[in-house]
Amino acid sequence: MRTAATRHAGLPFVPQPRPDELLGSWLLRIAQLYGLSLTTLLVRLGTLQTGTAQLPHWFSIDASTVNMDALSAATHLPRSDLETMTPAACRPHWPEELGACERCLTEATHSGESLVWNRNWMSPWATVCNIHGTLLTPVATRRLIRVRCTETLGAAIQSAATAPKLLDEEPICASDALWLQALCMARTAVRLPWGRTRPSDLARVVNAVAHEVISQPTFDGSACAPTANSRTLAVKDFALESTADQRAVASLPTHLRQRQWVLARVAHVLRWALEARTFPASWSSASVKRMASTSGWPQGALAWVCPDAADLVLQQGELRRKHSISPSYFKAYSALLASIQ
Ligand SMILES: [Zn+2]
Repeated sequence: MRTAATRHAGLPFVPQPRPDELLGSWLLRIAQLYGLSLTTLLVRLGTLQTGTAQLPHWFSIDASTVNMDALSAATHLPRSDLETMTPAACRPHWPEELGACERCLTEATHSGESLVWNRNWMSPWATVCNIHGTLLTPVATRRLIRVRCTETLGAAIQSAATAPKLLDEEPICASDALWLQALCMARTAVRLPWGRTRPSDLARVVNAVAHEVISQPTFDGSACAPTANSRTLAVKDFALESTADQRAVASLPTHLRQRQWVLARVAHVLRWALEARTFPASWSSASVKRMASTSGWPQGALAWVCPDAADLVLQQGELRRKHSISPSYFKAYSALLASIQ
């Protein structure tokens, strides 16, 4: 039986993928080289998966829509190399804004190279350029959908960059954000101040701390994130790949500037001991109670993030040992919660 992989003898020339280039970006460049649309190229190469009625957006092309063996045969690139170029899955939708590094694109333009889209920019965790250490610039995902060739990537970014910037008055520590971004995108166990942490546990901790950061009162008594940019903080759930066969749900702002703001603060909390933090000076009593009720955190993580919450858990355990599960336990525990101000 002939398979898709044997249908095409292979293209006479393909440009080499750039470091960390997204598969869809590279395919756009190949299609452009041969004067074809991306869909036409993939159809002629016989690489579309059976049952794929319509090609997905260029930036989301992966093994579910393109036959990697056929693509490998057509482009003379090992299948394993192609697989490393696919975007990490993000369900059910991409955020409304992703981020791109203007400096990376400007440097490519100045050196006469093609503009390419970095695979890392597809992740909602990505907030900082790991080459330049600078904050990424927002790019509306709906603009990316309309990109047909890589030359227009720069225009997509500039258009978004002219939009009013959010939260500019809030200082964002790019080095903290970059530190957390590397850990979240590692897709393997990583070392944090409290010890070795699995990807799914890290996502759980980040998720919970992000929730508290968003709801943390500011010095003027208002909820900081929504009022700082005078618009509602749009938070959505994203199911992200934490390892090859596991997904973690992260509730994150769908706009990049807000995501940068939240994740930089989460990073600051996770990276620095309580006494070295500039944010937050102390958790609200509501945050302490909520964090004390979290479960499944790695040992030591709660004590690092919020020592008061870890103390509360200890005291709760002592009450339970003393009263067992009885009306007197619940009475004593309610009194304990009420004492936290
Ligand atoms: Zn860069």
